[in-house]
Amino acid sequence: MPDEYELVLLAALLHDVGKFWQRTGEQGAHQQLGGRFIHQYIPPQWQGCAGIISKHHDVSAYLSEGYNPLKIVITADWLSSGERKNLNNEESANVVNTPLISVFPEIRKSQSKNRDISPSEYCYPLKKLEIRYDVLFPVPKEQYPKRQLSHEYKELWSEFVREVSKIKEVSEFEVYFNTMYYILQKYTWCIPSAVWKSRPDISLFNHLTTTCAIAACLRDIELDLTYCTALYRYVSKKELTDAEKESLDDERFLLIGGDVCGIQRFIYSVVSKGAAKALRGRSLYIQLLSETIAKHVLLRLNLPITNLLYCGGGHFLILAPHSAAPKLEEIEKWIAEKLLKIHKGELYVVLGSVGLSSSDLLSKRFGSRWHELSERIAWQKRQKFSSIMNEEHYDELFGATEEGGIKDICSVCGSEAALTPDEDDPSLKKCAFCRSLEHLAKQVAEKRYMLEIPTPTDVNGAPEDSWEHTLGMFGMRYVFVDEVGTLPEGAHVYTINSTAMPTGLCSCASAGFRFLLNTGLKEMSNLAKGSQGMKKWGVLRGDVDDLGVILSEGLGDDQSISRISTMSSMMSLYFSGWVHVICESFSKENSEGDLYGIYSGGDDLFIVGSWSALPKAAGKIYDDFRAFTCNNPDITLSCGITIAPTEKYPVSRAASLAKESLDRAKQSPGKNSICFLRPMSWEVFSGGVAQLRDRLLELIKSESIDSTVSRSLLQRLYAICRMFEDERSRGGTLAAKHDDRYGRWGWMLAYVISRARSGGKKDELLEDVKALVQSNIEHAIVAVRWVEFLTRKEEVR
Ligand SMILES: [Zn+2]
Repeated sequence: MPDEYELVLLAALLHDVGKFWQRTGEQGAHQQLGGRFIHQYIPPQWQGCAGIISKHHDVSAYLSEGYNPLKIVITADWLSSGERKNLNNEESANVVNTPLISVFPEIRKSQSKNRDISPSEYCYPLKKLEIRYDVLFPVPKEQYPKRQLSHEYKELWSEFVREVSKIKEVSEFEVYFNTMYYILQKYTWCIPSAVWKSRPDISLFNHLTTTCAIAACLRDIELDLTYCTALYRYVSKKELTDAEKESLDDERFLLIGGDVCGIQRFIYSVVSKGAAKALRGRSLYIQLLSETIAKHVLLRLNLPITNLLYCGGGHFLILAPHSAAPKLEEIEKWIAEKLLKIHKGELYVVLGSVGLSSSDLLSKRFGSRWHELSERIAWQKRQKFSSIMNEEHYDELFGATEEGGIKDICSVCGSEAALTPDEDDPSLKKCAFCRSLEHLAKQVAEKRYMLEIPTPTDVNGAPEDSWEHTLGMFGMRYVFVDEVGTLPEGAHVYTINSTAMPTGLCSCASAGFRFLLNTGLKEMSNLAKGSQGMKKWGVLRGDVDDLGVILSEGLGDDQSISRISTMSSMMSLYFSGWVHVICESFSKENSEGDLYGIYSGGDDLFIVGSWSALPKAAGKIYDDFRAFTCNNPDITLSCGITIAPTEKYPVSRAASLAKESLDRAKQSPGKNSICFLRPMSWEVFSGGVAQLRDRLLELIKSESIDSTVSRSLLQRLYAICRMFEDERSRGGTLAAKHDDRYGRWGWMLAYVISRARSGGKKDELLEDVKALVQSNIEHAIVAVRWVEFLTRKEEVR
């Protein structure tokens, strides 16, 4: 006999699958088709959920005694969309031909001048999920092919049921559920969940998974009639009594947020020699650690994967029942103790939570509550260690962690653990933990599949002082392979950067996919050598501007959990999926050098590379991000670039300079900027500055024999730009630009250009340069230095 809870979870996860089938032209109400789907395709032991699915619009059952599993699914369905609707509304005839439209054009920051402009519609193609431009990027409605989509639906459906049929032999519930979750993501990410809405912008996948997450939270609750009546009256737009209102205000849910702290220091404080290999491994370790901890919390609270609403950049978000609140402190303490043992306080986790009522979900305030939680966690972070600050751990926190004295230290992390020399460079001595992280990075770069194997926390075969051992302490083992052979029970196989499910999978393991920035390992010296002109490496950092504002206000009064979740999963697809594609193909398509991806996910990225490759990569990442978010002026991205002055410059220093550079970009009004040598808007960067750079490069190329003339011209132009900056600091921008008393640079420019004339074809270029410097004087210095760096002749050592 299957557990009733399992049936509720599956019913919630698949309750609207009939809509998918219906749109292929299949006759019948979607609840009935959903029931048929269960009987036809689901393993017999769980077919009991068909009854719940075919009744999930049955209001009379909802308002009678009994039927608790059904009530849970109906409640979850209504709370997920937070919609007040006409419950008898069958979808209209044109449902089939309405594609999913992007949620991004609707985002408005509160003070936005674009507030009243009605957003344009961009549509997603009806294709299974793959990280390809023609799949991920929505197109303007006018360009969307005007044809019957039922054909596309048919194709998608037949592939979907083929994949679902493959797992019909599975007997373990979790294995079945987890694979189904990924199959649904692959095929329903692009299907609109409700078409009768004016803007069908919520994906079926996000509606199904958030419904399931809510259902999982309600499992131990006997939903009483007062509550059900209240909810029913609310969604059918009827007046509520005080008692009914009160019952909706009950905090039945808990939103839990987790933050891994100390990441920056942990990843980037490595000594520069041999740092390259270390960076990627450390960043991956943090990613796996955050996920492992998030999954540990899920396990402790007995919640399925659907309840992990977000995980990226060291943050995670979990929807839990309110009854989880008292357990949280104990879980946090448990995690803190493990981390303290492993990382001696270098890494720690803060858990925070806010209560959530049905009213919060119905009034669609989910985004604001999430934002509130983030702020609360930020506050908690400042009270580092508060949960474990007691006598017992005093020595570990404040006592000496190392013996000190004249001992060898690890070349990467500086610890005094036992050291062994590096194979490639025996002058480097590394500790076992650092070596294991390098091994991790190599594995991820080379292998096709990642296996995630839950293990009891006290049984751990991995050698101590390895990342496998530390993650094992949280109950998870990871293995990277090219072939999927016989797997231990309960293992989960992820295909890396592809949605193709592994073939030949045994029925005891679940399957899915994951996207991550994966450019392989690169050496700093090779990145420097690969640059154009000056041989240096650099760092590019970037993130979405005002994400907090976008979350809390961006979707106005419609921040339902399914809508917010649609937005955040689309955003993650860009950073973890598309940024990988950009970086991976960069050196093949461009001559400016090579990129080494350290991290991209959630809403931010960190890339090391040949200095000359970074501005171009930043421009591409920005342009594609704008296209991905439908050119909405309220969703922007800023970037900061720093060039390391020497090859052996400390990575940690370059990382923090790149952060400073990013902060300078964000100080510009409206943000939406890049800081490369100087902060400027993207418009200036790809406009005036790029034009001036190209003209100057042409000028230098035109002097094939002796470029000293142009190089001295560059120096003079540089002096003029500095003169402008000097005059600006005395008289202000306007005066320096237009007032003769401050505008000496203008005269100098005319003089220098006329001196450089030679009566040949070159003079035309000189005129262009003069005009471009004049019109872009505030940023001309960027182009001048950029060209000077690009044309600098340096020996490759
Ligand atoms: Zn080390």
